[in-house]
Amino acid sequence: MWIRIRKGQLKGRKLVAKDVKSKPNLDRILNSDIGYMDLKIIRTSLDYHQQIQNKLYVMIRQLGPPTFFVSFSSAEHLWDPLMHALRDIKQNTTRPNTNELDENEPSSLIRNDPVTCVRYYRSRRDALHQLISHDHKYYGELTDHFYVTEFQNRGSEHEHGLLWIKSAPIYGQNTNIEVEQFVENYLPTNSLLLASELRVLQHHCHTKSCRKRANSNCRFNFPIPPMEATKILEPLEFDSDKTKEHAKLIFETINNTRYSENDTFDSFLANLGLVQIEYIHAIQCTLNRTTLLLQRKPVDTWTNNFAKHIPGIWIANTDSQFVLE
Ligand SMILES: [Zn+2]
Repeated sequence: MWIRIRKGQLKGRKLVAKDVKSKPNLDRILNSDIGYMDLKIIRTSLDYHQQIQNKLYVMIRQLGPPTFFVSFSSAEHLWDPLMHALRDIKQNTTRPNTNELDENEPSSLIRNDPVTCVRYYRSRRDALHQLISHDHKYYGELTDHFYVTEFQNRGSEHEHGLLWIKSAPIYGQNTNIEVEQFVENYLPTNSLLLASELRVLQHHCHTKSCRKRANSNCRFNFPIPPMEATKILEPLEFDSDKTKEHAKLIFETINNTRYSENDTFDSFLANLGLVQIEYIHAIQCTLNRTTLLLQRKPVDTWTNNFAKHIPGIWIANTDSQFVLE
């Protein structure tokens, strides 16, 4: 067995070669944290994640609750500068005389050159971070941030982050109306604001990862009920069979109906045969935690939340949510 222990300490003294020469000593070291100290610098190790998690806890303790949770995914095939770079690299190496691209080429170019894709993603991401930091129109005045990068199974890079915004309202300290108005300024879930190619990127399609168990609901809670206005809803217990029927009707309807841009919230409610108080009450009875539902037209029941100005500059799927608790 090979282990690497550098600058380690064992019961207050420095580790030396003889400490790992005998089997009982080696077992003792491996059964304690000291044998794994160096793994802290390896990104996939538990120790590394523990370290990052601790850093985040310290930030929350010092700064208070973050304001927004954000995610930025990759869409390599839509990023022209990247695709040009991948083609140039390929032509200069393996296919010097070919300009014709077959239909499959974008995906094969991306698959065959992950290093260029990651380098491009990081440049694009850094530019986005600069914009978010300096231009307050995206999320407000950024005072601090915490980002983590992850890779999907197919190897595509994406990022999750927490943003702290100066003078942002805090749920429980400010009134619900203050929170709702603040959120509506930055997160209007209205896909009609987006160009058609960007709307597709914001459309949620169920995947295997949506359901942890065969019969469970989508863990991202799609489809999301339309709302006339942004509202914080507290969970309630079902108080009657009638409310259960209303909830069943609402979710069956939004699951099975394709709404158009012309469908209004009022027409949606009229078709359900419910008044607004019954509708909100039934939704509250399906919640298991306090939830902020954004103003949403029927056409956007499958649109994931986004910050107003981000999809147009990021040009890939993005998600932004206000952090309630
Ligand atoms: Zn889903």
